[in-house]
Amino acid sequence: MISLKDVSLAYAGRTGPVLALEGTTINVGRGEFAAVVGPSGCGKSTLMKLVTGLVKPTTGLVAVDGAPVTGPVKMAGMAFQNANLLPWRTVTDNILLPLEIVEPYRGKFRSNRAEYVAKVEDLLATVGLKGFGDRFPWELSGGMQQRASLCRSLIHEPALLMLDEPFAALDAFTREELWCVLRDVWQRLKFTVVLVTHDLREAVFLADTVHVMSARPGRIIETRDVSFSRPRDLEVCYDKAFTDIVHDLRNQIAQVRKG
Ligand code: ADP
Repeated sequence: MISLKDVSLAYAGRTGPVLALEGTTINVGRGEFAAVVGPSGCGKSTLMKLVTGLVKPTTGLVAVDGAPVTGPVKMAGMAFQNANLLPWRTVTDNILLPLEIVEPYRGKFRSNRAEYVAKVEDLLATVGLKGFGDRFPWELSGGMQQRASLCRSLIHEPALLMLDEPFAALDAFTREELWCVLRDVWQRLKFTVVLVTHDLREAVFLADTVHVMSARPGRIIETRDVSFSRPRDLEVCYDKAFTDIVHDLRNQIAQVRKG
């Protein structure tokens, strides 16, 4: 689904070029749940922007779904640390927004609205927000807003979901609740996921593969398979095999931070 081959990316910084990525190679299979971890500033967000076509590589190849990326990738859904819901729109109208913008939905938006609203209601139920469609974002807690944001990123049935620290601003309990929401919706809809996170437990709980990045300029220094059976229960986080992986990853990142 995703292939980056020997990619480098230099930003034009104010005092000269900033090499964000160098020699980055990563492959993510269709339907796979991949997590990317690494020290701050190592280029994780840059990697997301390359895959979604928001920036172009300086050298190397980026392909999604077998085709080189030449502009914004329409098949991707995205969610970020902030839910970024529009305060003047209800939850339902926020979630409908991508369908008002992206073809082929856009052209049929008026005639198919009832069908689209039914899809929103189905997704809201999946993430535990049944009955909240008529509320405004400011009436919801942070965790509920992030659930709504997840619905918005999934409404156009993307084959690829890109998540950049989506749960970082939430308290620990809400975060774990949302891990389970994401686990269940992924299990049901079977899209490909790339999750950028600082939270190593989150990466190991959710992902099939965890990619570890070096300090800037970032590249993938290890890809670790996580083979716990699915569906995973939060209890797995207390197994020794689980904490061993988290511990290893932590040591590895501490090493690369030292440089
Ligand atoms: P991460 O998400 O891992 O924290 P980023 O991909 O945001 O890292 O950034 C990687 C490096 O590139 C950082 O050193 C950052 O300061 C730099 N950077 C990111 N965006 C720009 C930009 N638009 N112009 C110049 N430098 C940038």
